[in-house]
Amino acid sequence: MPELLEITEDQARAAYEKGCEECIKIGGQWVHLRICLVCGKIGCCDSSPMTHATKHFQETGHAFVRSIEPGEDWKWNYETNEFID
Ligand SMILES: [Zn+2]
Ligand SMILES: [Zn+2]
Repeated sequence: MPELLEITEDQARAAYEKGCEECIKIGGQWVHLRICLVCGKIGCCDSSPMTHATKHFQETGHAFVRSIEPGEDWKWNYETNEFID
């Protein structure tokens, strides 16, 4: 596993307020937000129309995300489809 970004609660809140970068570009909407733990890119979840977090993994191979929804801090590994401890 690569070294993953440590996201503070302040960073998570700031990222949440920013929103999904790719959706903003196209004027789209998202449901929930995730942040890439390799490069810090903000993307939207699989319940969102554009599923940018998953697309980011497919395009870059960055397999680790964290939820930045308020009150959530779980992390997910796209390669194994498992939560990260
Ligand atoms: Zn999006
Ligand atoms: Zn990334």
